[in-house]
Amino acid sequence: MKETPLFDAIVIGGSYAGLAAAMSLGRSMKTVLIIDSGKPCNRQTPHSHNFITQDGEKPSAIAEKAKAQVLNYGTVKFHSDLALSGRKNENGFAIATQKGGEFEAKKLIFATGIKDLMPDIKGFPECWGISVIHCPYCHGYEFRGQKTGIMANGERAFHLASLVNNLTDNITILTSGKAAFTEEQRTKLDRHNIQVLEKKIAEVDHKNGQIKQVIFENGDKMDFTAVYAAIPFEQHSDIPVSLGCELTEQGYIKVDNLQKTTAKGVFACGDNSAMMRSVANAVFSGNLTGAMVNKELTDEQF
Ligand SMILES: Cc1cc2nc3c(=O)[nH]c(=O)nc-3n(C[C@H](O)[C@H](O)[C@H](O)COP(=O)(O)OP(=O)(O)OC[C@H]3O[C@@H](n4cnc5c(N)ncnc54)[C@H](O)[C@@H]3O)c2cc1C
Repeated sequence: MKETPLFDAIVIGGSYAGLAAAMSLGRSMKTVLIIDSGKPCNRQTPHSHNFITQDGEKPSAIAEKAKAQVLNYGTVKFHSDLALSGRKNENGFAIATQKGGEFEAKKLIFATGIKDLMPDIKGFPECWGISVIHCPYCHGYEFRGQKTGIMANGERAFHLASLVNNLTDNITILTSGKAAFTEEQRTKLDRHNIQVLEKKIAEVDHKNGQIKQVIFENGDKMDFTAVYAAIPFEQHSDIPVSLGCELTEQGYIKVDNLQKTTAKGVFACGDNSAMMRSVANAVFSGNLTGAMVNKELTDEQF
């Protein structure tokens, strides 16, 4: 029979959340395998903001520095691969990967992030994270005072508009279909001179990801320097659900305040289980997860 190595924990996803979890565990001398497929959600963004000590840094530079520091701990290993499936066994869990690996661990940590689902708008994916952005805290300051669009509708658009209004007074909401605002919301938008356009969007015209204009299906065009977009997402990995982890109504992995999922021995951290999407939050929840997994392992052995 083939021997598979048994780790204290396997961390699936080796970006900010996964690396933070692995560091806590490595510092407690737990054996950890990080499996990572190298596709963090912010990979197209030139500069990451709002994470102290790293403000304005390239996203990959933050992750590379973190990875080098984590791998200084001799009990932590990094394996570049895609985790394909997982199952429970007598030791805890077994994970199978795309490259044909099978690894076992007593505990599992999912730090797999989320997959943004791009709308069917020409030019949108090329601008994502560059001039079509998801969050005013991450990139809004860089576009302060600029002509700004908000590609969203209803509550989400209203919420974004209220925040972006702190940064610019030149805002147009692009609902790309019938607007869905309450009378009260309309009154507030009007009070702040926020225009609402219902015309269907056909294309984002850009140069190297920098938006120039939005082109509508009827041929009209409107210049913008930045556009916020609220887009749907799905989980990167279906392994958590296959192991019994419940999802929330919004599609996040359900965790308690110690990052435990609804499946025993399985934890989740970072974007896959939190609405607050930031490097700082991913690092925080990863750090907490590492400590909680270490506590659980310790309680079982001590
Ligand atoms: C365009 C954009 C720009 C952003 N800019 C900022 C910013 O300026 N400041 C800020 O604070 N936040 C920013 N964010 C948010 C921030 O990037 C995320 O909150 C953060 O990356 C979440 O970290 P994570 O580790 O949970 O997930 P991710 O960083 O997305 O990493 C998930 C990792 O898991 C791996 N993975 C997934 N499934 C598997 C599998 N089955 N097997 C192996 N590996 C797997 C992926 O390849 C990836 O490496 C931005 C987000 C986006 C989308």
